[in-house]
Amino acid sequence: MTTLLIQNVHILTIDNEDRRYPQGFLLIEDGAIAALGPMSDCPSIASDVARIDGSGPDGSCQFAFPGFVNTHTHSFQALTRGVGEGLPVWEWFSQALDLVVGHLTVEDARLAAQVTALESLRSGCTTVVDYNYPHPQANMADSAIAGFREVGVRTVLARGIIDTGDVHPTIVHDTASEIADCRRLLEDYHRSDGDLVRIWLAPYTIFSTSTEAMRASHALAQEFGTGVTIHAATPSTLEAAQALFGTSDIVHEEALGMLGPSLLLVHCTHPGQIEQQLLAEHFVKVSHNPASNAYLGEGASPIIDLLHRGITVGLGTDGPASNNNQDMLAVLKLTALIQKMLHQDPAVIDARTVLRMATAGGAACVGWSDGIGSLELGKRADIVLMDPWSANTVAFDDPAVSLVYSATQENIRTVLVDGRVVMRDRVILGNAGTLDEMAILRRAQQAGVDLRARSGI
Ligand SMILES: [Zn+2]
Repeated sequence: MTTLLIQNVHILTIDNEDRRYPQGFLLIEDGAIAALGPMSDCPSIASDVARIDGSGPDGSCQFAFPGFVNTHTHSFQALTRGVGEGLPVWEWFSQALDLVVGHLTVEDARLAAQVTALESLRSGCTTVVDYNYPHPQANMADSAIAGFREVGVRTVLARGIIDTGDVHPTIVHDTASEIADCRRLLEDYHRSDGDLVRIWLAPYTIFSTSTEAMRASHALAQEFGTGVTIHAATPSTLEAAQALFGTSDIVHEEALGMLGPSLLLVHCTHPGQIEQQLLAEHFVKVSHNPASNAYLGEGASPIIDLLHRGITVGLGTDGPASNNNQDMLAVLKLTALIQKMLHQDPAVIDARTVLRMATAGGAACVGWSDGIGSLELGKRADIVLMDPWSANTVAFDDPAVSLVYSATQENIRTVLVDGRVVMRDRVILGNAGTLDEMAILRRAQQAGVDLRARSGI
């Protein structure tokens, strides 16, 4: 049995009672939390057991919290940051991303996933939902999974499905082959690697995935007990749905029988009252992407209304071509600031609510609340330690307030995924215990240069 003791940490459990232990311990056995509580309750542990001590210079404690769940990104865009900056969303697709996506290689997919995973760990994120497109070559998704797991993040690979529409003409495939590859991935990878990898289905949008493929993805998700995620209720999806079906995309998806607790809608910047009601009735989840919504000028999502209706909202970065990073700490801060500004009310949302959305909310979004999203007995040990001893965070008091408003990647000190220490004292160790981070970054930088050259941009 592998045992690790984390001691002298201020634990934010994010459990249902929001319990905190200002000077606490976490005992980890075989990847799960075997005990936690105040240091006064810490059992005596053999001296040869590995331990991490979070004591600060004045006896204060590093903050321990459940790793963030990034509910939406597109890993390949780690190689396309800044492409088409300043263009409206349609032009951003057609004049920028479309020129690039067909030129990606299988090795690009792996490198981009590695960079995404590195950026995730460094910003306190332990689970990534990769809305995985494009697939100009076979096995792009397999390669991305390998990249994520080499660095060591928990992986939800949502296989993008694009079988119609004008956007991305180089990466549209016939319906049968798209669905067949989804089935192959589900059979080969779903709940693989000790359940650190899960496969989801990701019909791209209402205008780039056919009704047949939408139905097939829903059926596959039911068959394999997994989920579906789709971009929805944005200005462009609403316009397209009106033209194609004479209604909103969410109403159309309800008619297809797709709405349910295993459906994760992304963006939802403009859901009307009817759509919000449908989401609440069917327990549909929402991935909120404030940085991307702002970057592309799409608008601010009415998440306060969604939360008041009892809808589960998680946070996501979106792909780094519309962000231009995958820093979950930045997303937490933007989530709070944009809503306060939108409502002209600083009390409309608080740090605890935002932190819950990024952790327990994200876990619920991906149907994984039984394993991750909070620090509780029996849950998997996806744990992040934040060191508040830096100029941007002293004088610290409430850890949630420090995390949401003050923290940057420099404060994220140690990260565990499934009990494995994948970053310690800001050194990335990766899944195998040693990883050459700079070698990955150098290869990715060159791959980005080469990709732009091949794409002619
Ligand atoms: Zn997206």
